[in-house]
Amino acid sequence: MKIIQKDFRVSSRERNQMIDITSQVGSIVSKSGITNGDAIVYCPHTTAAITINENADPSVPHDILLTLADLVPPHRPGYRHSEGNSDAHAKSSVVGCSRQILVDNGALNLGTWQGIFFCEFDGPRSRRVLVQIRGE
Ligand code: ZN
Repeated sequence: MKIIQKDFRVSSRERNQMIDITSQVGSIVSKSGITNGDAIVYCPHTTAAITINENADPSVPHDILLTLADLVPPHRPGYRHSEGNSDAHAKSSVVGCSRQILVDNGALNLGTWQGIFFCEFDGPRSRRVLVQIRGE
């Protein structure tokens, strides 16, 4: 089994933003030489996340961010964290910091409407995304 790890940077422009990173991850997979296995997309930040969802209609990421804002209010009387970004930490844990995608015939095996998103919850910032590909 071969293991390849790469990273790339993503710049957000909003405090809350979902950025489609499918093409960056797909390009790392195709350059890896690994044709069958899996890819782990991991975000080493405590106020950001990785998810997979529809990337055809931009209303979908918009509505996900709207839903997360309802679930996790930006300001609550009970928040204790002194940086003032408790909502961003909570959203990061709700969504999760990584996803695993199968690699078949040298490409990401995503559904027709699926894309990989980097989720920013405390932007704008420059962030790092790690991709590890394992397989043959
Ligand atoms: Zn913080």
